[in-house]
Amino acid sequence: LARPVVFGNWKMHGLRADSLALAGSLVERAVRPTGTLGVFPPATVLRDVARRLEGSRILAGAQDCHPEASGAFTGSISASMVKDAGGTAVLVGHSERRHGLGEDDAVIRRKVLAAQGEGLLVVLCVGETEAEWQAGEREARLRRQIHEGLAETVDAALLVLAYEPVWAIGTGRTPSLEDIAGTHAFLRRELVGRLPAAQDVPLLYGGSVKPGNAADIMALPDVDGALVGGASLDAAGFWSIYQAG
Ligand code: 13P
Repeated sequence: LARPVVFGNWKMHGLRADSLALAGSLVERAVRPTGTLGVFPPATVLRDVARRLEGSRILAGAQDCHPEASGAFTGSISASMVKDAGGTAVLVGHSERRHGLGEDDAVIRRKVLAAQGEGLLVVLCVGETEAEWQAGEREARLRRQIHEGLAETVDAALLVLAYEPVWAIGTGRTPSLEDIAGTHAFLRRELVGRLPAAQDVPLLYGGSVKPGNAADIMALPDVDGALVGGASLDAAGFWSIYQAG
């Protein structure tokens, strides 16, 4: 994927009209993007947003998918449904699902394979909690998330890794630049240790990325882009984050 890779996770925000307006205003700005831009709207508007983005180079993806192809799983959507709705990517293992909904590395591993089986680009999210960070357990936690979340058969060409410290999400706090750089170097080593073909897998930083800090963060070695939450809901702000990369 061309750098920078800047993805917006809209989380549970946006009715159809707002989502189409946001997508439209990104299309107007992104006339000839040289990097990779993508948005992850709620599943209810994925099809509409994907249509609105058709012909632009902005991709649309889902925020989650179920590991099974179909079945009695009330409320869930499968990877083939994401694809059928026009999505080409999916977030897997976001901390709001790991911690809020109890997803573990074993289910995340199955989701990654299910999504790639449909040809979807997987954005695997990893990150430590504040307690783990303070206890000096960050690296052990990230190593486990990478090794248990990624089967050996994962296709590196359909993978992006997003590092999102749980304590930096939606808090306005971020690790220091030095800290982010060190963690990304560690993630690159772990990832390549797990999947030898992962040398070129984009590594994104996420957690309180804003127009004001995006340039410094994305200039760090081994930071190939950003996964943006709150600030991706404003087209001008999201676009300026992309341009900072
Ligand atoms: P914020 O940018 O709102 O901190 O959210 C980050 C995030 O969780 C993106 O997936």
